[in-house]
Amino acid sequence: MKHPIRIRREILERLQAEARRQPAVECCGLLAGRAGVITTLYPATNVLASATRYEIAPEELFCLFRRMRAEGLELLGIYHSHPSGENFPSTLDIERAYYPEAAYFILSPVPEVVRPVRAFRICDGQVQELSIEPV
Ligand SMILES: [Zn+2]
Repeated sequence: MKHPIRIRREILERLQAEARRQPAVECCGLLAGRAGVITTLYPATNVLASATRYEIAPEELFCLFRRMRAEGLELLGIYHSHPSGENFPSTLDIERAYYPEAAYFILSPVPEVVRPVRAFRICDGQVQELSIEPV
C-alpha cells in the first residue's frame, strides 16, 4: 500500500455515515479538495437504486462538477458502497473506472467490517490499494 490518500477526518466519518444511511442500496458521490487533500464530499443519487450497482445521472454529475469548479476544488475521489460482500473493486468497478487519476473509495455499511472505508487506484484494469491518511 503506497501513495497514501489524505482526507479530512470529518469527511472520512461522513463517508461511513453515508454508507449506513440506506444500507441496502449502493450510495455514491464525489470527493474533492485542494493540494491532494480531500476536504469536501458531494453525495449523489444512485439512479439505479440497486444493491449491486451504481450510476450517477449525467445531469447530476455535470452539476456536481460545476459546483466543484465554482468552489475552486478538484476531483480527487469517487465513492460508492458495497451493501454486501467485500469492499473491494468488482469486475464492473474496474471496467468502469473512467477517472484513473481519482481515488476510488469503496465503503461497507456493515459495522463489523475491519476497514469499512478502503481506497483504490484503478488504472488500465490494474487495482492498487491506497493507504488512507486522515488529516
Ligand atoms: Zn462496486
